[in-house]
Amino acid sequence: MPATPPTALDGLAAVKEELAELYRDLHTHPELSFEEHRTAAEAARRAASYGYEVTTGVGRTGVVAVLANGAGPAVLLRADMDALPVKEATGLPYASATEGVMHACGHDMHVTCLLGALKLLADARDTWSGRIVAVFQPAEEAGQGAKEVLADRFYERFGTPDVVLGQHVAPLPAGTVGAHAGPAFAATDAMSVRMYGRGGHGSRPETTVDPVVMAASTVMRLQTVVSREIAGGETAVVTVGALRAGNQHNIIPDEAELRLNIRTYTPEVRARVLAAVDRIIRGEAATAGAEREPEITEVDSFPVLVNDGDAVQKTMAAIGAVIGEERVMDPGQVTGSEDVGNFATSAEPEVPLCYWLFGGADPAKAAAAQRAGTFERDIPSNHSPSFAPLIEPTLSTGVTALVTAALAWLDGRPRE
Ligand code: ZN
Ligand code: ZN
Repeated sequence: MPATPPTALDGLAAVKEELAELYRDLHTHPELSFEEHRTAAEAARRAASYGYEVTTGVGRTGVVAVLANGAGPAVLLRADMDALPVKEATGLPYASATEGVMHACGHDMHVTCLLGALKLLADARDTWSGRIVAVFQPAEEAGQGAKEVLADRFYERFGTPDVVLGQHVAPLPAGTVGAHAGPAFAATDAMSVRMYGRGGHGSRPETTVDPVVMAASTVMRLQTVVSREIAGGETAVVTVGALRAGNQHNIIPDEAELRLNIRTYTPEVRARVLAAVDRIIRGEAATAGAEREPEITEVDSFPVLVNDGDAVQKTMAAIGAVIGEERVMDPGQVTGSEDVGNFATSAEPEVPLCYWLFGGADPAKAAAAQRAGTFERDIPSNHSPSFAPLIEPTLSTGVTALVTAALAWLDGRPRE
C-alpha cells in the first residue's frame, strides 16, 4: 500500500474487472454519432447508481451526471460516446456485433474510464469537496456533439465549471499519459462549395460560362493559400478532397462542386486561411464571368483545441506523482481534431482546459516497433479497423488519470 493518505484510488482494484467487462460490452455494441442510445442509457444507469444526479437527452443523446459535494470548485469531466462507420478487423472475441460500425477511436474506453472514475470519486466523497459535472457527449466524430450539448442550455442548467478535463486513448504505450500545452489538436473546417456557370453544348463554349474551368482554376489558386499567405513558421493544410462537375464529353455543365478540408492551429491562421479561401472562390467565379455567386456551406468544423499551460502543468504533475513522472510525457501537436475545447471556450469568461492522451498500445510491441522504426506501420492508430487498445493497463491508467486530475482541482477534505 502507498504511504499516502487514503484516496479515491484505493477503490480501483475492486472495480477493475467489472470495468473491463463493461468495456468489452460497449466495444461489442458500438453506436454512430447521435445514435448512442444504448451507451447513454448504460452511462445514465450506472452514474445514477453511484449517487449522481443524472439528466439524459442533453444535446439529443448526451448524459450529464452531477455530484454536488459541498463548497469548492466545479470540475467538468468529459467522455465522448460515438463509434465510427468502420468494419472491424481486430478479430477480438468482443469485436463489434454491428456490421460496419466499430469503436475504432476508443470512445468505449473513454466512457468506461469516466464511469470508473465517477464511482471511485463518489465512494470517496468524504475526502474531497466541490462539484463534479460529468458529460457523456454524443457525436464527437461529427464535430457536432459538444455544440449540441452546449446549445441545450448546458451552463444554465449545470453551472459553469472552473476547469474542463478529459482524455483520449492513443497509440502510445499503455500506462503512459501525455498532454501538450497550448494549441494541441488542429482546428478543422470542412466545407462544400457550389460554383455556378451556364451550361451548353460542348462545341460552343462561347455561349456558356464553363464551371469546369472555373473549378479547376479555383483548385490551383487554392494551392497558393498555404504557400503564399501563411508564414513559413506557421502550419496550415488546405485540401480539395472532392471535385465534381458534369457527366458527358459534349455537354458543358451548369455547376461544379468542390469539397474542402482545412486544418490550422491558431485562430489567427485559421481566420486568414478561411478569408483567403472565400476570397479565391468568389474571385475565380467573378473572373470567369459567373452570373451567380458561389455557395459556400460549412459541413463541419472543430475549433483548435488549446490546452491551458498552467492547467496542463498542475494536472500532469498530479498524475505524474501517482503513476510516476517517467510515464508522463509531451506528445506534441496532433493533426487530428477534437470538440471538447468547446466546453472551455464557450464559457464566459473562458475556463482552462486540460485534455490529455493516454496510451493503449501493448508496451512491448510499441517498444519493439520503436526500435525497428516501424511504429507507424505496426501500431494501429485511431480510426484503423485494427485499432484495439490493450484493456490493461490502459483502463486502470485512464481511471487513475481522471480521478487524480479531478482531485487536483477539487478541494481536499482530510478523512477522519
Ligand atoms: Zn475519432
Ligand atoms: Zn476520438
